[in-house]
Amino acid sequence: MTMSIPDPYALGRGGLAALLDDQPRYRAEQVHRWLVRGVDDPTEMTDLPRSLRARLMELLPPPPVLLRHTSADGGLTRKVLLGFPASHGLDPLRSGLEIAPRSLQAGVESRADAVEIESVLMCYPARQDRAGRATVCVSTQAGCAMGCPFCATGQAGLRGQLSVGQVVRQVTVMQRLLSQGAVDVPGVPDHVTNVVFMGMGEPLANLDVTIAAVRWLHDPDGFDLSARSITVSTVGLVPGIRRLGELGLPITLAVSLHAPDDELRDDLVPVNRQHPLAELLAAARQYSDRSGRRLTFEYVLIDGINAGVDQARRLASRLRGFGAHVNLIPMNATPAVPWRAPPVPVQLAFLAALTDAGVTATIRHNRGGAIDAACGQLYADYAMASGRTLPAAVGAAERLSTQGSTRLVMAPTQGSAGPAMAPPS
Ligand code: SAH
Ligand code: SF4
Repeated sequence: MTMSIPDPYALGRGGLAALLDDQPRYRAEQVHRWLVRGVDDPTEMTDLPRSLRARLMELLPPPPVLLRHTSADGGLTRKVLLGFPASHGLDPLRSGLEIAPRSLQAGVESRADAVEIESVLMCYPARQDRAGRATVCVSTQAGCAMGCPFCATGQAGLRGQLSVGQVVRQVTVMQRLLSQGAVDVPGVPDHVTNVVFMGMGEPLANLDVTIAAVRWLHDPDGFDLSARSITVSTVGLVPGIRRLGELGLPITLAVSLHAPDDELRDDLVPVNRQHPLAELLAAARQYSDRSGRRLTFEYVLIDGINAGVDQARRLASRLRGFGAHVNLIPMNATPAVPWRAPPVPVQLAFLAALTDAGVTATIRHNRGGAIDAACGQLYADYAMASGRTLPAAVGAAERLSTQGSTRLVMAPTQGSAGPAMAPPS
């Protein structure tokens, strides 16, 4: 058993006050103020007495270690591999799996020692018509249980839930890189301006943690990000969408669709069998009505599978009247399937079919492909090291193959090597 050390980001104001109950009240408030500014190393909390800093060093978990830092796109995209010491542990599988369908929990792994997490920073320098942006793409789970066959994270299966501190620290580490001038390109902000929950895992399958992290990031005393600059991307867990809507915060919701009908979506996004398109679209519309935010739909374009003009037309007829924006994401290569993005003319034809039908759409310019940091590529090392795929992914491959597609042949799984993390280098 790993000894549990309180994570200050999970404690909140009340928990901090209890931890420091022998101190004057304002001390807990001082610590809180540092935390919301992204400082969790007690040695840097300079307005605390030295003795209290020393005590906090013993009480709080050590900060994560930057194990690897790679860059692409002329330095504008950064991927970091963070190592969280064993005392952070992985949260045992809990809250999220209460709303993740049981059938998708197969292949779940849990280990309570050191945790490694990948997250990505994407910088967009200021232009005449646009302010500069620095967007962090955060992970909410180590792996994912949802088994979407095209996604490296899904191919790897789920090892566990991340904690609030592990999510928030992905942002604080990037904040530090920016403030130290690590991205030395004119027009790039020196602080994080946007956070997207699009890294490893399904944010709404770790809902309490996602909500708590959003609150930290939104706190006006701290990161002070507007809810509008926070995007939560979901595979379509309807109960989670409803709860997010109840928060009453105008967070941008991005819903991953990937298919115009249930038949194909059942295979590409296995959770569709629990929450089919009609139910999902109704929940998304309700979220949009409540929050006043325009929805985003994501659609990964996979050659020969979901990228035909006819499929675009059927998608458009389902989405007409939503006033939503569709993000088309040419598929990034992942280890367990030979699927690829369609050629550019096919992508453009799909885009044109949507816009001709009155649906606003753009093709997302992919960042970080050279360092496996693009959408769906996180945890690729883990997937290859483990050599295993989720039963759900294998099932989808077999079904689509027997339906006549010759494009989908799953890479054979290599025995039962068990999960292994990407080695630090
Ligand atoms: N689990 C959430 C958020 C993380 S994935 C979700 O599925 O929405 C973020 C986005 O990357 C999703 O839209 C997902 O479908 C997309 N994605 C996954 N694998 C991909 C791949 N191989 N190429 C391109 N996009 C991918
Ligand atoms: Fe999980 Fe999202 Fe990947 Fe699907 S696409 S396996 S939900 S991370």
